[in-house]
Amino acid sequence: MTIPFPKRKVTRAVAEAELSVLERTYPHAETALEYGNPFELLIAVILSAQCTDARVNLTTPFLFARYPDAAALAAAKQEDVEGIIKSCGFFRMKSKNIIAAAQGLVKNHGGEVPSERAALEALPGVGRKTANVVMSVVFEAAAFAVDTHVFRVSHRLGLTLGTTPRAVETDVTKLVPPEKWRHAHHWLILHGRAICKAPTPLCPQCPVSMCPSRPIVARAFAAKLKTASGRARPSAPAAATRRRPKSSSTARTR
Ligand code: SF4
Repeated sequence: MTIPFPKRKVTRAVAEAELSVLERTYPHAETALEYGNPFELLIAVILSAQCTDARVNLTTPFLFARYPDAAALAAAKQEDVEGIIKSCGFFRMKSKNIIAAAQGLVKNHGGEVPSERAALEALPGVGRKTANVVMSVVFEAAAFAVDTHVFRVSHRLGLTLGTTPRAVETDVTKLVPPEKWRHAHHWLILHGRAICKAPTPLCPQCPVSMCPSRPIVARAFAAKLKTASGRARPSAPAAATRRRPKSSSTARTR
């Protein structure tokens, strides 16, 4: 079922009210990725692309047991890393990237994870979203990462009409003070995972009463129901054919 996004943004007052509901709903929002230090978080975030945090959390203990720091991972053989992270998807590309990122850390940063955006984004496999997560989670910097949940929920709430993660980032960060950007990222992610799910948003359970997507979702569900019931019921001509008494035509011929 495709649920279109609202075509207009809500007013600033409504947007702030929506975000304030999410803030109250998820007061202790934090990353679901398990990590022990900045290096582990960086690698976990790279692995989490197109993969669930739960799956990454099942994988990283084995990876970090074998490669506990950047120096160890930088010296790893790609096929060995592939064997460990296979279940995270795109394992060839991810293995290549995390080894290259570790090499970049060793070569340019003494094996440590840098806190500046430019240095992070210069590492292989690290884009703006990954840099934002590392900066905001590890260094508590004012950064707002846009992943698939943040993108979807921001649109459904009418906070943005942006067609790229960067445009969504720009719109949402105008609505929240910088010291709350890193928290807002988690409010939207947790809401997207728990309630405002991609295929089936649970609007009746949602605390954001002013959301402009409520009627859109209701219409989408109603249309789906109508299509399903149309499929379940025999079509009128078919029913008529089955109901037509055999005798009506045969009687005349007799
Ligand atoms: S009301 Fe529905 S569409 Fe809007 S945020 Fe809540 S779950 Fe998502």
